[in-house]
Amino acid sequence: MTQATEPRIQIPQAVAVKDLAAMLRVTPIDIIKELMKNGVMATINQVVDFDTAAVVATDLGFSPEEEGAAAAVAAPAADGAAEAASTSRRVIDDDPDAMPRPPVVTVLGHVDHGKTTLLDSIRRAKVAAGEAGGITQHIGAYQAKAPDGRTVTFIDTPGHAAFTEMRARGAQVTDVAIVVVAADDGVMPQTREAIDHVKAAGVPIVIALNKMDANNANPDRVKQQLMEIGLVPEEYGGDQIVVPVSALRGEGIDALLENVLLVTEMQDLRANPKRDAVGVVLEASTDRHRGVVATVLVQTGTLHVGDTIIVGLAFGKVKAMNDASGGRVKQAGPSEPVIVLGLSDVPPAGERFTVVADEKAARVETEARRRLAEGDGGVTAAVTLDSLFGEIHRGRVRDFNIVLKTDVQGSIDPLVRALEELSVEGINVKVIHASAGTINDSDVNLAVASKGVVIGFNTDPEPGARRLADVQKVEIREYRIIYDILDDVQRAVNGLLEPVFAEQEDGRVEVRQVFRVARRSAIAGSYVREGTIRRNSMARVRRAGAIIHQGRIESLKRFAEDAREVASGFECGIQIEGFEDFMEGDEILAYHMEQVR
Ligand code: GDP
Repeated sequence: MTQATEPRIQIPQAVAVKDLAAMLRVTPIDIIKELMKNGVMATINQVVDFDTAAVVATDLGFSPEEEGAAAAVAAPAADGAAEAASTSRRVIDDDPDAMPRPPVVTVLGHVDHGKTTLLDSIRRAKVAAGEAGGITQHIGAYQAKAPDGRTVTFIDTPGHAAFTEMRARGAQVTDVAIVVVAADDGVMPQTREAIDHVKAAGVPIVIALNKMDANNANPDRVKQQLMEIGLVPEEYGGDQIVVPVSALRGEGIDALLENVLLVTEMQDLRANPKRDAVGVVLEASTDRHRGVVATVLVQTGTLHVGDTIIVGLAFGKVKAMNDASGGRVKQAGPSEPVIVLGLSDVPPAGERFTVVADEKAARVETEARRRLAEGDGGVTAAVTLDSLFGEIHRGRVRDFNIVLKTDVQGSIDPLVRALEELSVEGINVKVIHASAGTINDSDVNLAVASKGVVIGFNTDPEPGARRLADVQKVEIREYRIIYDILDDVQRAVNGLLEPVFAEQEDGRVEVRQVFRVARRSAIAGSYVREGTIRRNSMARVRRAGAIIHQGRIESLKRFAEDAREVASGFECGIQIEGFEDFMEGDEILAYHMEQVR
């Protein structure tokens, strides 16, 4: 089992504010603000030294190390840990005031395997009845009590889509993932997908083997299947915790909670309740009576009624807070989910909140954020094969993460093996998820969250996924030939990714009459139907759909005069290098090559 430890981050001796923000996966404004707290006024392009950057990184929950320092290069940790260290935004305090905090749990698994039933059953059995008569509301999260009295926080939106979407926004809230597998159905495609998403996040897994009450429950078969995907149950000598439960009957819940706590004991989850609160929005909406209603999870510090918070471009003074049992609360500490009233706008789920001095400060800062977002288009750096190469060589990336989609299941194993064999000393080529089917939102989000690329082999992105990839600036590369995939990835790893040229069509011409001018030469008397034809550009001659020649346009004439270009709607005479067999009705396509990468 891998543990997500305190995220280690390597910082160069000198780093620009903008780059530091990218490394810590926060906005430059967050950095500028942290610097201001420490008495340093900096602009986005300003370079700060390691010591200054380290203070900011520590405040944001990282454990900074100077790049190139002898002990700095930790051995690439197994599985997700290294990745978690580079992408986790988990807020971990290492100050002396830090106290143990409850783990935050997300429930994932294949559809109909019982995620919702399990969450409901835990809520019913384990949530202390609130003052509002024991009525618990769905607010996006709740806290349950284990038999020994310790608390566990559950995120109430099951499924890996929500999980990874949050991560794609830079919010890692989950400490442990419960993957529900129905004992009567076994490991299914979405089980595998969920497990890949959780592993990519470097989050430990507890398997809830659900529907143990069902007549055809076959736990041994499920354990066998888990073994096949690399999760070896403890009773088979591995370290994967598998807890049999019946969500429907509420059986096995105590054991499940105990095991969740067991797994997190090794993580030593701590936070400082005495500092200003930092956390994440789980869900938000507007209500006619109450205004903006946002459920937030406090990750560190304590949030109080009366605090002014800022969330993305929204801000406000916390007017009132409610917990999951509907009761009013005055404050909320680490790992506590609460409903917050008083924000100016509805913030998106996954957005991080921080406390500021007052509304005036909040206004100044949101204004700065807005300008920044309008200015250089925000902060998300594109993830492409090329940029990955750059990151690899700057020593910032050790895992080359790939989300692989193929048309058929059969292509997956050989491709994954071939890709992972391209790993070289210090750089792991890692296929973090591979499955058959079209490229969807969840694949794109996984790539965003893991700073990876999506590779499609004989399969296309869904339109929504393509749009999301554009917005998130993630590269989706489509291939038809396995060799090309391996070649490109190898080049990226070795830093040899060469520019790629693509054809840009300039114009289309119809041949209307052929003039023989010499024994070995013919002029195509033509009409430009679309675009513009240029002398010296490349051209293809097509007849009945087939390409019969390809060559340079060596002569272009308007009437008897040489012309440099001829636009659509005009007639012209064209000669193409090395070709004389024009026929009436041929089509000539002119194009040029343009560098696209
Ligand atoms: P989800 O899609 O994973 O959220 O699954 P649901 O919680 O909606 O459950 C799907 C179906 O499985 C429902 O009909 C549940 O009643 C049923 N179910 C869930 N847990 C159990 C269980 O422990 N035993 C049995 N027999 N059925 C269950």
